[in-house]
Amino acid sequence: MRTKPFGKRGPRVPVIGQGTWPIPDATALRRGIELGMTHIDTAEMYGDGESERIVGEAIRGFSRSRLFIVTKVLPSHADRRGVARSCAASLRRLRTDYVDCLLIHWRGETPIEETMAALEEQVEAGKARSIGVSNFDPWDLREAARSLAKHRIACDQVMYNLHERTPEDHELPWCRANGAALVAYTPLGLPTLDPRTRGGRVLAAIGRRHRVGAHAVALAFLVRRPNVFAIPKASRIEHVVANAKAGDIRLDDDDVAAIDAAFPNRVRVGPLPTN
Ligand code: NAP
Repeated sequence: MRTKPFGKRGPRVPVIGQGTWPIPDATALRRGIELGMTHIDTAEMYGDGESERIVGEAIRGFSRSRLFIVTKVLPSHADRRGVARSCAASLRRLRTDYVDCLLIHWRGETPIEETMAALEEQVEAGKARSIGVSNFDPWDLREAARSLAKHRIACDQVMYNLHERTPEDHELPWCRANGAALVAYTPLGLPTLDPRTRGGRVLAAIGRRHRVGAHAVALAFLVRRPNVFAIPKASRIEHVVANAKAGDIRLDDDDVAAIDAAFPNRVRVGPLPTN
C-alpha cells in the first residue's frame, strides 16, 4: 500500500483508506487495516455515534500509532463548547486518546472563525493531531484558513469520483497550493462503474492488464495525484480486498488518457456537489 504525506509536514498516510457510513462491519474494517488501509474515516453523525463505536471495536489490538483515525464534528456542535464536547464524546466511542484529524463536517451557521479556533483548541489539548474541513469550496477554504492562528488545514474531504470530477478545477488547486490533502469521499460513484457501460468496459480492460478490478482502477485514477486520498466504504470482504489493490498499482499515461476520455470532467454548475 502506497503512502504519502497528509497535508504539509503531515504523517505518511495510505492512499486508500476506509469509509464507515452506512454502519460499517468491524471484521471488514479489521481486514482492511491488515491490508494497509489504516486511514479510517468516521463522524459523530454516522448512526448517532454507532459508526465510531464500531471503529473503536475494530481497532482494538492494533498499534494506535499505525492508525490514522479521522472524525467529524456536526455543524450544530461547531461552537467552542460544542466542539470540545463533541470531540470528547467521539474519543470515548472510539476508545482512543486522540484523533489524527478532526474535521468540521460541513459549514453551518456558527461563524467559521469560532469553529476553526475551537478545532485548534483540540489540537492544543492533544485531542486531535490536525484539523480538517469537509464539503468546503475554495471560498470556504480561504476563510477557514485565514481563521487559523497556529495550525493549517490538513485536508478538505469532498465528493470526488469519476462521475464528479469538478473538484479537480476548484478544491484540488486550492489544496495543492496550500499544502492540504484532498480526501475523496464516495470515491466509487458506483453507477458509473457498471460493466455494461462504455466507461465500465474501459475500466475493466485496464484492470485486466493490472490484475485488479474496475473499482480499483477508478480509485487508482483519483489517488494518482500527489495530494489525493480516497476512502471507499466496503462491508464485503471481497470489496475490501479489491479496493486495497488500488494502493499498489500505477496507471500509465495511456490508462489515464482512456479514463479521461470515458469519464470527462465537466464544468461545475452551482455549488460543490455533496452526498
Ligand atoms: P463509496 O465508498 O464510493 O461506495 C460504497 C459502496 O460501494 C458500498 O455499497 C460498497 O458495497 C460498494 N463497494 C465498495 N467497494 C467495492 C468494490 N470493490 N466493488 C464493488 N462495489 C464496491 O461511497 P460512500 O460510502 O458514500 O463514501 C465512502 C465514505 O466516505 C463513507 O463511508 C464515509 O466515511 C465518507 N463520506 C463522507 C461524506 C462527507 O460529507 N464528508 C459524505 C459521504 C460519505 P459493500 O459495503 O456492500 O461492500
